[in-house]
Amino acid sequence: MCVSTDVDGGAPSTEHGLCLRDLPYGVGHERTGGMNQHNHKFKEIIVALSRGVDPEVAGDIEKQSVFVSQSIERIYVEPDGKAVRIITRDGADLVEVEAKAKRFLEAMVRQVGGFEIKVSMACKRRDSGPYHYGVNDELIKRGWMYDYGKGQVAYSGPVLKLARLINDKVGELYKSAFNVNEAHFPAMVDADTLRKCGYFDSHPNSVSFIGNVVEDFDAIEEFRRANSCSEDALLPQREHVHMDGMCLNPAACFPCYPTLTGMDFSTGQCFTWQGRVFRYESRNIDGLERLYEFNVRELMFVGDENFVRSVRTNALTVVEELAQFFDIDCQVQTATDPFFATISAAKKFWQASQEVKSEINIPVLGNDGQMKQLACGSINLHGNFFGKRFVFSAANGEPAHSGCVGLGIERWVFAAFTQHGFDPMRWPEAVRNKIF
Ligand SMILES: [Zn+2]
Repeated sequence: MCVSTDVDGGAPSTEHGLCLRDLPYGVGHERTGGMNQHNHKFKEIIVALSRGVDPEVAGDIEKQSVFVSQSIERIYVEPDGKAVRIITRDGADLVEVEAKAKRFLEAMVRQVGGFEIKVSMACKRRDSGPYHYGVNDELIKRGWMYDYGKGQVAYSGPVLKLARLINDKVGELYKSAFNVNEAHFPAMVDADTLRKCGYFDSHPNSVSFIGNVVEDFDAIEEFRRANSCSEDALLPQREHVHMDGMCLNPAACFPCYPTLTGMDFSTGQCFTWQGRVFRYESRNIDGLERLYEFNVRELMFVGDENFVRSVRTNALTVVEELAQFFDIDCQVQTATDPFFATISAAKKFWQASQEVKSEINIPVLGNDGQMKQLACGSINLHGNFFGKRFVFSAANGEPAHSGCVGLGIERWVFAAFTQHGFDPMRWPEAVRNKIF
């Protein structure tokens, strides 16, 4: 249903009871991304939620709102968690937009909160200086980072040195804690592997398919000619693009599972590598904090249930050692994934009740200057899901259990610069000597 708000001396109402107000571009509360932004004139629809939501669900609603409709700029949850403001774009069919938004919201409000958050590790930094606000801008200003504006960054100098140090240090810690095998996997993954991994079911909005010009002489020539004299890149016509099922890999461990098929892990094993990961974020991209393309140091472990659980426990010590080495405030706590709306409630409930996922949270400053927790990695138990799907076993031929730890390198970089700033003397000596 629609809640009326009176703005500027009375908002116009449409025949079906929507309350609208015209808003200037920008609205003052939104950091708009660089993509697809034109001089839109926004209208706002206010919709009451059928069930009040807590701040966590409110955050998920706002973040996922970029995937609801191309006619919706963003959905904001009101501070009391009982209604939302839907900011629509120019020319939106408001009836259709509202109906679509309601289907999305109905799915999202089903999420059950209130699970006890368990903290399994907490590390306190020794540096007593203030957190640095505006890290992305400062890194760009110093020429250490270049932001392409589409969720990708280039970096060099101290940023590159720090990224490498994080990756190398954790690799070293894994080596001394576990009997790890080093590996390498490609950045592309085929659709069938992703489907088997359950990714299309859980995160269909984040997938990136590779498109190629269709194998057709005339179509290829048309594409070539169009671009030979154009100012901007002209993409091939839609009907001349085909997708053969290759995707950009969205989670570091997925490409490893097909390689395990038929293998026996009665003796548990650990693998580690640096993976390149891609998650389509639409307009949610945000500096080093939320990239489309980023790097992950992955640890994957496979064996029987006891082995997998013991590696997970020991991995906590590694994360603690890593946080101490870089001297940062850090906490590991139980968490859930931001699944796609329609399956979110069920999957989050399962994750929370089984305590199969923990997040490595590092406090940073958000765009509003307020302290927030940035998830810089996750520690996951998969049960025997991948063992069953990709047919690899542990003792007695039973499907093997597996688990993984993924650390987002660029987020660790962002967090470290936030917590130590740009005065080298505030950084731990072992780090300072290597990066500045
Ligand atoms: Zn993983």
